[in-house]
Amino acid sequence: MKISIVVPSYNEEESLPLFYQAAGEVFKSLPYDYELIFINDGSGDRTLEILKELSAKDPHVKYLSFSRNFGKESAMYAGFCHATGDYVAIMDADLQDPPELLPEMINILNEGKYDSVATRRSDRTGEPPIRSWFAKKFYILINRISDADIMDGARDYRLMKKEMVDAIVSMGEYNRFSKGIFGWIGFKTYWLPYENVERVAGKTKWSFWKLFKYALDGIISFSQAPLSIASWFGIAMTLVSFVMLSFIIIRKLIFGDPVAGWASTMCVIIFIGGLQLFCLGIIGQYIAKIYIETKHRPHYIVSESNMDDVKKIQ
Ligand code: UDP
Ligand code: MG
Repeated sequence: MKISIVVPSYNEEESLPLFYQAAGEVFKSLPYDYELIFINDGSGDRTLEILKELSAKDPHVKYLSFSRNFGKESAMYAGFCHATGDYVAIMDADLQDPPELLPEMINILNEGKYDSVATRRSDRTGEPPIRSWFAKKFYILINRISDADIMDGARDYRLMKKEMVDAIVSMGEYNRFSKGIFGWIGFKTYWLPYENVERVAGKTKWSFWKLFKYALDGIISFSQAPLSIASWFGIAMTLVSFVMLSFIIIRKLIFGDPVAGWASTMCVIIFIGGLQLFCLGIIGQYIAKIYIETKHRPHYIVSESNMDDVKKIQ
């Protein structure tokens, strides 16, 4: 049996040697063949040189190097496309996904009851409280409005059977939100909690703003609920306008019509204008996704690799 580990790496020159060592250590005690597939996602540092050095002395090390930074989602996709193992794991290069969990994950899959073992953080220590708050609300929201089943605190770190990876690869959408894709394809998943680990070296590529946009992307990719907001607002406003109309007519009949109400008219105009722009904006977001999707651009472009049969443009 063979196990593939897919490792997206973007500016990870400090973490890579540590990761390589830790992963090697784990596989030394396991009776399985393995491959480490590193995806150099257009790093600007020595990541590629390090990968070349590692692959020159160890045939387990394979690498794909992108022509520019395509993002972690594309890197994961490329890794899945090229993984040849019976089980495939996805791991961060910064050791936040502890390789020591792998033997346990492999055992769970070997028992045959599950198709994948996914990990989730049992706590959010070391994270700014405001970020945790938004993250919690995001998970509640997306589970309510979409059919992608997403676990709070789920990490990308998971081990899957080949069939599941094939299903993921078959989802060729350009706007990839992996947490949603993993949940959408189904299969039986065992959730393994573990305590959050800090990065060994380097720093995170996620700012709060980037995370926020990522969350919005997830919602737009997996739910049509925002689109119906416009219709609901429309219905609500129509009802309100009926009430106001009756009020105005009755007042006119009883008190006559002294000219007044400029301020309230302006308020209503601005309010309705704002709502209309808001709803247009939501529709615009979906159109933007459709626009990108219909171009059928490649997910990634490989500039070099040490693997055979590489799909250079996919
Ligand atoms: N990564 C990538 N491309 C990017 C950003 C990140 O391949 O554009 C990789 C990065 O090298 C790491 C993993 O994705 O292996 C997770 O990134 P990071 O540790 O910055 O995210 P965090 O763990 O803070 O969520
Ligand atoms: Mg990390």
